[in-house]
Amino acid sequence: MLIKCPNCGYEGKSASYVKGSILIELFCVLIIIFSFIGLFVIGPLALFFIAIGFIYPIWRISTKYTGCPKCKYQYVVKQ
Ligand SMILES: [Zn+2]
Repeated sequence: MLIKCPNCGYEGKSASYVKGSILIELFCVLIIIFSFIGLFVIGPLALFFIAIGFIYPIWRISTKYTGCPKCKYQYVVKQ
């Protein structure tokens, strides 16, 4: 997709970005894994932790955006 950036004046191909950190996402995956194991130990409370572990990755997917490859500006104009 070709874009024009109102922030730095860049014109050309766009770039895709996701907000947040891959490290926190990995941490969430670990929480989910351990909660599944813990399900037999702590019971329903583990479901609560599983839910928390899922929220962050879903939030990251929902904040994916097309931006400027030069300055990462989010609100670029599509051409
Ligand atoms: Zn830019």
